Parts: sequence; C-alpha cells; structure tokens
Amino acid sequence: MAQRGARNILVVEDEEPIAAAVAARLRSEGYAVEIASDGRAGVETCERTKPDLVVLDLMLPELDGLEVCRRIRKSAAVPILMLTARDTETDTVVGLEVGADDYMTKPFSPRELVARVHALLRRADRAVTDAGPIRIGDVTIDLTERRVTKAGGVVHLTPTEFQLLTHFATNPGVYSRERLLSQIWGYRDGSGARTVDSHVRGIRRKLGDAVIRTIHGVGYALGDIDGVAEGGAAS
Ligand code: CA
Repeated sequence: MAQRGARNILVVEDEEPIAAAVAARLRSEGYAVEIASDGRAGVETCERTKPDLVVLDLMLPELDGLEVCRRIRKSAAVPILMLTARDTETDTVVGLEVGADDYMTKPFSPRELVARVHALLRRADRAVTDAGPIRIGDVTIDLTERRVTKAGGVVHLTPTEFQLLTHFATNPGVYSRERLLSQIWGYRDGSGARTVDSHVRGIRRKLGDAVIRTIHGVGYALGDIDGVAEGGAAS
C-alpha cells in the first residue's frame, strides 16, 4: 500500500522494463507507485488504491487502455496520462474521444514524464480548490475579471480567442480540433479544422507559444499551469 502522505500513482503498463523505469523515476520524485501489468488488473488496482493519478499504456493485454480509461472514468475523476506507442495509436485515441487528460508518445524521456505528471496533479489540485487566476509562465488568465495579462500588461484577445482560451482553462484536457469546433463553434461535420488552427495561432502570437500546447496527432491543450497567480487565491 501507499506510504502515508505520499501521492499515489498507478502505472498500468505490460512492458516490464518500461513499467519499472517509470515507477523508479516517480518514486525518486517522492511518489508512491503501484504497477499493474494488464488492463483488468489496472481497473481493479485503481478501485482498490484510489490513486491520485494513473499512467496508462494504450496497448495492454486483457483490456486495452481505452477500455481501462472508460471503466476508471465511470467511478473516479482521477487524472489519466495515456502512453501511446505510435502516431497511428494516437489517431485511434482521437477517433474514440476517450477522454484521457494528457498523452505521451513513446519513446519519451523520464524527465518529460515527470513534468507531465507534476502538471496534471497541479491542475487537479487547482480544480479542487477552485482558486483564482491561472498562471502559465508570464501569462495570467483571470476568468472572473475576463482579463488576460502578459508580463503584467493587459492583452486584448478577440472574443473567439478569449472563448477558446477560457475553454481550455476551465475544462482541462486534450481536445481534438473536431471537438473544439463542435463545442465552441457548434460545427458538427468536422469541417473547419483550419479555423481552430488560425485562432490558436492568434492566441500564441499575442501570448507566446507556451500558452497552448500542441499534442502531436491529437490536438491542443492548455499550457502547463505554474500555479495560482499572486493574490488570486486569497481567503
Ligand atoms: Ca503495452
């Protein structure tokens, strides 16, 4: 069982060397780690240990990662970081809109994995405390004031850019262009993917590239949140 006080991470991965390397790296960062080596064990371990985060491989014996993700999602709001082996697999993920919170393509560096885990946990903490403005580098998004600043100066976004940015800020996750078109523009036929790209370009031009991340083969996600802006979380 997890040691008291440590954040508990479940790694569901059938390739033993990868599971061991990921677990070792996460333990060295102070996390308690459980490993499940097939999909069914992953679901069971998740129910039993109630982890703070799940690192989930897509290709698994027994139940594949998509089915594991669905089953975990039914009972828990735990952040899920999906590992995929190739671009063709990320295409599958997009097709099924499975709703993982972030994706990483193998091979990845342990350092990158740890960064993604930290970011997901920060985001989950933030959702729980519902604290003030969001800070991404020198960019601050104040949802209540409907104001975006960069290095302290107010930046004027178009209404669509603002809507797109706040959509990411209030609904953390990875979004395909099709899903953004449907949710923000109300398009159902999947046309107009370039519309999304052009608004993302507009936001990046004004606020810097880091504010919206490109998730290769999947779509877009909000940049990594540094924490709660100064003064924003008072009370
Ligand atoms: Ca695998």
